Amino acid sequence: METSVFEAIIDRKIPSDIVYEDQDFIAIRDLHPKAPVHLLVIPKKRSPRLDAIESEAELGRLFATAIKVARQNLSDFRLVVNCGPAAGQEVFHTHIHVLGGWKT
Ligand code: AMP
Repeated sequence: METSVFEAIIDRKIPSDIVYEDQDFIAIRDLHPKAPVHLLVIPKKRSPRLDAIESEAELGRLFATAIKVARQNLSDFRLVVNCGPAAGQEVFHTHIHVLGGWKT
C-alpha cells in the first residue's frame, strides 16, 4: 500500500493542525475546508478505504471517535465518508470528514 499524506502527518513528517489525538486516532483540520469547521478523523492503523475495515469493533471505535471529536468542536455536525475514487475519495487512508459551523 502506498504511503499517504495522512501517514506522514501521523508520523510528524509533515505539519498539520492537530485537534485531537489518542493511541489509535488523530483528528486534524482539513487543509481545504468545505465548511466553517472541517475536521478529519483518521485511524492510525492503515487501511485504504472504509470498506476495507473488516472488524465491526474497529468501525465502531472509528465512528465513536468521530462523534467524540465532533461534539468537542460542534453542537450540530455532518459526518461524511468518501469510499472509493468514484465517490470522491482522494486520500487512500480511511478517514471521516466532520463538517459543521454553519449559521442557522
Ligand atoms: P477525501 O476526498 O475524502 O479523500 O478527502 C481528503 C481530504 O484531505 C480533502 O478534504 C483534502 O482537503 C484533505 N487534505 C489533503 N491533504 C491534506 C493535508 N496535508 N492536511 C490536511 N488535510 C488535507
